[in-house]
Amino acid sequence: MKSTSEPRVPHAAFQGNVWPAVPGEKGQMLLAILYQLEQTQWWSADDLRLHQHRQLAALLNHTWETVPFYRDRLEAAVLTPPFADLGDAWLRLPPLSRADIQAAGNDIHTLKLPADHGSISDIHTSGSTGKPVRALRSQLTLRFWSAFTLREHLWHRRDLRGKLAVIRNSTAGQDMYPDGSRYQYWGSSRRAFDTGPCVSLNINASAAEQAEWVGRENPDYLLTHPTNLMRLARQCIEDGIELPKLKDIQTLSEILRPDVRDICRDAWGAPIKDNYSGREVGYIALQCPDHEHYHAQSEGSLVEVVDDDNRPCGVGETGRVLVTPLHNFAMPFLRYEVGDFAEVGPPCACGRGLPVLNRIIGREQNMLTLPGGEKRWTLLSEGGIRNLFKLAPIREYQFVQKSLETLEVRLVVGRALEGAEEQGIREWMLAKFEHPFEIDIKYMDELPRGRTGKLQDFISEVDERIR
Ligand SMILES: [Zn+2]
Repeated sequence: MKSTSEPRVPHAAFQGNVWPAVPGEKGQMLLAILYQLEQTQWWSADDLRLHQHRQLAALLNHTWETVPFYRDRLEAAVLTPPFADLGDAWLRLPPLSRADIQAAGNDIHTLKLPADHGSISDIHTSGSTGKPVRALRSQLTLRFWSAFTLREHLWHRRDLRGKLAVIRNSTAGQDMYPDGSRYQYWGSSRRAFDTGPCVSLNINASAAEQAEWVGRENPDYLLTHPTNLMRLARQCIEDGIELPKLKDIQTLSEILRPDVRDICRDAWGAPIKDNYSGREVGYIALQCPDHEHYHAQSEGSLVEVVDDDNRPCGVGETGRVLVTPLHNFAMPFLRYEVGDFAEVGPPCACGRGLPVLNRIIGREQNMLTLPGGEKRWTLLSEGGIRNLFKLAPIREYQFVQKSLETLEVRLVVGRALEGAEEQGIREWMLAKFEHPFEIDIKYMDELPRGRTGKLQDFISEVDERIR
């Protein structure tokens, strides 16, 4: 039978039911949320804020009654029931840090989750600060997570019947090269819509192995971390692997540098669709369907960009990102400091009322500290990175600030570098970091990924207390 041109086929879960399809219970919940998301995205910013505050008030009432950790904080901010008009009181509530969560222990868990929010599951997020956080999530939270995953697919007009290739798993022994793993479906989206297959490879496979695998799989869509994508795209260019079916690439979890978009266009002619999320807080922002900036996911969380006084930044200003997931009653995160910075954008020309983040900027621990104590974001110039790659056959790099006076650059290279090339790299670094640092060049076969498969391109080992 000839396949239909309709790209999305709802999943029919009942015997003998074909059309119109009725999904199973979880799929029905997904579609119920999605139905609203399809409309709320077009609401005005004011309407979105109004309804967001209604949900926030419900969360605050629950928190006040059942989460001991917050009682003092809320009282101190004069943020008390019935939470009808939050106003400035909300801005007085201090941000929640990872250290606060660790210190709070079980006091930050609810004493009583509404029964219909489902069972509680937990995850541990490693973070790069060496401060792991255990986060509790209700089933309801996970349903919202799945709904935003679906919204992301719909925004980017993906044909869900295509093949999705995922290079993300870093667990030793799973999804190993050369075979990887094969799944019949794309994951939770299948509850609402029929999908094509998903194939998965361990992210610790070498660049050459990944390129060979992805060429063999020839997927319609690819999902991985930005730094891994960078090395994969370079390898595919070197090896002449083209991925003719590839329509777009999803990136997540790390800060996406614009030059990665360029190299993917060079390698495969495919655009990147980035999203900004955290395992403990869910989706924060998704790339606009029509632009390269991001829309905060206001239906799922309150996203704030704030200055040093924890007050909102204006358009064009850069500040710290605070996130309050609106539906996680198991462990409320109120004004959670995710550790990133973002630049606030003007309303989007696409017509969606969801607030705009022009860009997401690196984490504080990825900042360079100058000997005088001044902090700098270091890797924002895409042209600069491109120039670095012109100096020598560099495949991957990582800068580590070892002390106030010392930088180390870790390189994975195509061949041994000549003295003049090394000198060029030193000069590039001195110009880039604007201080006569002592520079060590260290060669490595592969750069180690963290437990989550992430690679950071700048790490500071300078003691945070030195300012
Ligand atoms: Zn937009």
